[in-house]
Amino acid sequence: MIVGLPLYAAGLYLTLTLVPLFVILAGSGVQGRGFWVEFGVAIGFVGLAMLCLQSVLTARYPRLSGAIGQDTMLQFHRQAGIVAFGFVLAHPVILIAADSSFWEFLDPRVNFLRALFLVGVLFALPLLILTSLWRETFRLPYQWWRLGHGILAALILVIGLFHIMRVQTYLSDPWKQALWLAMGTASIASIGYARAIKPLRVRRFPYRVTQIEPVAERIWSVRVEPEEGPGLSFRAGQFAFLTIADSPFSLEQHPFSVASSARCDDHLEFAIKELGDYTSTIGELPTGQTAWVDGAYGSMHLPPDDSGLLLVAGGIGVTPILSMLRTVRDEGRRVPIVFIYAADRIDELAYTAELDALAQELDLTVVRVLADPPPDWNGEVGFVTDDLIANHLSTEAAKQWHAVTCGPPPMMEVVERALLAEGMPLGRIHSERFDIGAAGAVGRRQAQVRRLVIGLSAVMVAASALFASW
Ligand SMILES: Cc1cc2nc3c(=O)[nH]c(=O)nc-3n(C[C@H](O)[C@H](O)[C@H](O)COP(=O)(O)OP(=O)(O)OC[C@H]3O[C@@H](n4cnc5c(N)ncnc54)[C@H](O)[C@@H]3O)c2cc1C
Repeated sequence: MIVGLPLYAAGLYLTLTLVPLFVILAGSGVQGRGFWVEFGVAIGFVGLAMLCLQSVLTARYPRLSGAIGQDTMLQFHRQAGIVAFGFVLAHPVILIAADSSFWEFLDPRVNFLRALFLVGVLFALPLLILTSLWRETFRLPYQWWRLGHGILAALILVIGLFHIMRVQTYLSDPWKQALWLAMGTASIASIGYARAIKPLRVRRFPYRVTQIEPVAERIWSVRVEPEEGPGLSFRAGQFAFLTIADSPFSLEQHPFSVASSARCDDHLEFAIKELGDYTSTIGELPTGQTAWVDGAYGSMHLPPDDSGLLLVAGGIGVTPILSMLRTVRDEGRRVPIVFIYAADRIDELAYTAELDALAQELDLTVVRVLADPPPDWNGEVGFVTDDLIANHLSTEAAKQWHAVTCGPPPMMEVVERALLAEGMPLGRIHSERFDIGAAGAVGRRQAQVRRLVIGLSAVMVAASALFASW
């Protein structure tokens, strides 16, 4: 495993980006126009193949998400997107530098429509990347950014495919055109799957909101029950997209970890923290509304072995952990558990009574950490630190436990670093970040995904050079 991204997935990705390139060398239509022209062409093809795969990575295919992890997939999507952007932009730059006659592709006097579309791509690509990297700086609402991101990406893809079909240097054979069309179709179909097929499926299984109540300051427990049949099947630690009082096609779909036990199929519970436009209205919603649940996603789940568990949550990161504890109780498992639960203030600690009851029932120690404690506080004070983690992993046996962490990114970084320093293997550290928009912004796994993307990109550049000197 590389960072939760299985080797076979990385190999498959490389194959899907390089095979369409080398296949075009077969048969007729190949022109030897010098190394740099052919290299520029190859880089363009590889960049386009990567763009085709981008929407597959974000289509929320439950099996992919479950095997690799939505977090890792989005980190990969983000970083591969930057490389694809570089490759596609390098394509005209290298061609024009190698042979200035390629300017004519961008010259409206030669072909107005072609120049319009190709120049459009050259503007749309940086726009796509800049609005993704700095969405919050530009104050773009998440839903509108997501819609625009999809539309821009689909436009770039369609123009790119149309361009390689029209240029025909390498795609004069119908079967080669068919191969690239299949790549493009898979990509557009992934967008269709995410935006149309999946909502249609979700619509067949409506839920009803049966309870909304506060569980801590600005945190609401939302209970939904399936209108008929058993509810969503999920693994403790996974999340789902929840839409309340709207259509499953709505842009207003928010990911929330399931807080209820995975052994309970008559309802789902979510704990939602007021954060922005949508979540701030949760407490005001009347019960009885229809809700739609799309899931379950994410590879973070309750480890099956009973060696031991170190759970570390910060703030609303308690939700997947609560689901795990409730599931351990319902499965009757005897597993030693230490749960470190951090928040700023005492009012922000949720489910206090239930956690205390679980500590009586299970082999569970709850360690609460407050940054700003009241005078009579007898728990830990400050933030989650390396030392705090080390204290709870002091025995050799504990180093062979599994660790699960969920919370603010800086806390997760400290926890991951401390666990690795204590000798816990990365494969035993499970985590989920609560910010899809910033997927890849932090963390040990992010660094490893980056290294993987750099490695794959180097192979692609080398393969393009090989193609050019064929
Ligand atoms: C895997 C995962 C599990 C989560 N679990 C929980 C949970 O159990 N409880 C909880 O309270 N919160 C959870 N969140 C966070 C929750 O999804 C966001 O707080 C919520 O969507 C914010 O919406 P808003 O409109 O109120 O806030 P806004 O102010 O509009 O958004 C705040 C930030 O939240 C993110 N965000 C907004 N809308 C979406 C969306 N539709 N999809 C993805 N991200 C979005 C963006 O990064 C945005 O900048 C989870 C997030 C993820 C990714």
